Order: sequence, then structure tokens, then C-alpha cells
Amino acid sequence: MKHVKELFNKYGIELSEGQAEKFGLYYNLLTEYNEKFNITSVTEEKEVYIKHFIDSVIGIKFINKGNLIDIGSGGGFPLVPIKIMKEDLSVTAVESTGKKCEFLEVLGEKLGFKNFTVLNGRAEELSKTAAYREKFDYCTSRAVARYNTLCEYCIPFVKKGGLFIAYKGDADEEVKESENALKVLGCKIKEKYDFLLEDAKRSLIIAEKIKNTPEKYPRGHGKERKNPL
Ligand code: SAM
Repeated sequence: MKHVKELFNKYGIELSEGQAEKFGLYYNLLTEYNEKFNITSVTEEKEVYIKHFIDSVIGIKFINKGNLIDIGSGGGFPLVPIKIMKEDLSVTAVESTGKKCEFLEVLGEKLGFKNFTVLNGRAEELSKTAAYREKFDYCTSRAVARYNTLCEYCIPFVKKGGLFIAYKGDADEEVKESENALKVLGCKIKEKYDFLLEDAKRSLIIAEKIKNTPEKYPRGHGKERKNPL
């Protein structure tokens, strides 16, 4: 696509030549796999750049060094755009659908990523294992569940002092109803960052982990979704 750098620039993001090239490769592979795997309903090129790539990249304002886990990565959002912008970050995708994991593996190779791991499984099972529990500086997630459910999927992965970054639309109501979930799981809201993506109202909900999560969470058996904390 022409004028990619200018488009990112409109949202305050500077792109190098190499990064612009990687977003181009990403778009091509997404289009190719979308026909087989049904990864996204957004397919028009400029729309993919704005609604997927730029939306994902906005989160880097809150991300420095360390490691990051993304829950329900699907076609790689927000994880892969973040990795393109911050190659030194060690990143892990968690995705329950095998075909999407296959796509993510191919994508990681095509983009020449190092320290890029794809886990095919459910968040609420993986966070019970010692290898992943409270091991990450950042946990991101977009379009996976309501905020109270998402808290129970994501917060167990985050280290004390780390951040849980949820990508949402208009989320005031969802955050209000999640006061108990945040408290029980050991987080407090640090900041709500609102921005406009064309005409769409978007929010990043940034929560800081202040206490360890009690071992009994996540509860499993679908309780996170059916009976949120
Ligand atoms: N995050 C991507 C995005 O913003 O485009 C994908 C969003 S898609 C609507 C939700 C994805 O989360 C699906 O690919 C689904 O398989 C995955 N997912 C849902 N619940 C999950 C769970 N508990 N653990 C792991 N993956 C999950």
C-alpha cells in the first residue's frame, strides 16, 4: 500500500522502512490465509491497516522491555504489530484454535522473528502451569471476552509490578462491573487511555498487578465466562 508511513504518522507513530515492509508482508499473508482459515472479516487494505495494525500498535506507549503474552491472538492482534515495532520484546501468543496457531507460526517465520512463541491452548489452563504463571511483564488481549471474564483469563500470567493491557471499545460499564474481579485477582486500574480510530471510540484499559493472584484462579470449567467474579 502507498503512503503507509504517512498513515501511521497521523496516529503519532514513526515507522522505519523495514517495519513498513513487514506490515506489507503481514497484510499479504493475512489475505492469503484468510481464504482458507477465515481469520478476519476486515479485508480491505486500508481498513486492515487502521483497524488491525494501527489499533494494535497504539499499545506500545505502555510497553518497554521484557516479555509479553497475548491472550486469544487470532490473526495476531495486537501481538504481531507490537512485535514488529519492538523486536527486542520476547512475545508469546495464546490461541485455542489450531489453524490460527498454524498461521501465526508461518507468520513469525516469514517476518524473521526471534523470541516468538505460539501456544495452542486455552488461557485458563495454561496459566495454571508453573512455566507461565506470573511470568510476564505484560499481558495484552483484544476482542476475546467481557472485561470481568478477561481479568480472570489474563491477570494470572502477569508478574507483580507488570501490566494487563486490554484493548476495548467503549468500556466504562465493563470496567465498573469488574471492580471485584480486579481486586480478587490482585490488580488495580492504572490508566484508561482513550483514542479515536477514524470515528470509532477505542480504549486501552491499563491495570497494574499489585498482589499475587490466589492459586484457585482461574476457576476453570467455563466459570470465568458463565459466572464472572
Ligand atoms: N485478538 C484477535 C483480534 O483482536 O483480532 C482475535 C480476536 S477473536 C474475536 C478471539 C480469539 O480468541 C479467537 O481466535 C479464539 O479462538 C480465541 N480465544 C477465545 N477464548 C480463548 C481462551 N480462553 N484461550 C485462548 N484463546 C481463546
